[in-house]
Amino acid sequence: MTYGLISDIHSNMEALTAVLAEIGSADAFLCMGDLVGYGPDPAACIERVRFLPNLTCIAGNHDLAAIGRYSLDWFNPYARAAIEWTGDQLTPDARAYLESLELTAEVAGAFLVHGAYPNHMDYITTASEAMATFESLPASLCFVGHTHVTEYYRNRTGTRFCDQTSLWSGGVIPLDPDVRCIVNPGSVGQPRDDNSSASCGVYDTELRQIELRRVAYDIAAVQKKMRKVGLSDYLIDRLPRGR
Ligand code: ZN
Repeated sequence: MTYGLISDIHSNMEALTAVLAEIGSADAFLCMGDLVGYGPDPAACIERVRFLPNLTCIAGNHDLAAIGRYSLDWFNPYARAAIEWTGDQLTPDARAYLESLELTAEVAGAFLVHGAYPNHMDYITTASEAMATFESLPASLCFVGHTHVTEYYRNRTGTRFCDQTSLWSGGVIPLDPDVRCIVNPGSVGQPRDDNSSASCGVYDTELRQIELRRVAYDIAAVQKKMRKVGLSDYLIDRLPRGR
């Protein structure tokens, strides 16, 4: 069985379309949240994601903020303005879909959470932050998003050691039964690891491996839409920088 891995789409339909052209033949899909926020196509991205085959999708902080279930105090002014605009764009159907999302899920031996565990919206950016999640994790494999950085963390079961590996240009993660793994497939719609290409992955349960991939997309087209709807220059300018 193959699972397409997507996270942090952030209303970027061009990036989502490019990613699905790359991994769309997967048997099922796992989405680690943040379908909306920052970008110009919230309703269209929700519609595209929610009907992916055999989808398991959890909520990110932007998804919750867009429906008034997460405080805007946690957002910088640019993100906050984009979330307020996003809230106004949601159809009743799109809103109902975001309201239906859970904070965690378990599927195919993997645990899904947007940020960290047990504090769902914390960030995992270091080996010690990853270790805090490993200590509470109910599975040996965990998929996260939130940081928009394509990387993974490993912890040999029963030890307190952890390593962190960037896959900013993509690569393969072999799964070892004695090693626990937290994998961040990176961001589809707003990567922040100095690579502007959309990020995604494929988890192959038979090969026991995860491949993370980077996919180029039409950034200029997204920027044009963002300008048209009045999203901030700060958000527009960061897409081609990939940070
Ligand atoms: Zn995000």
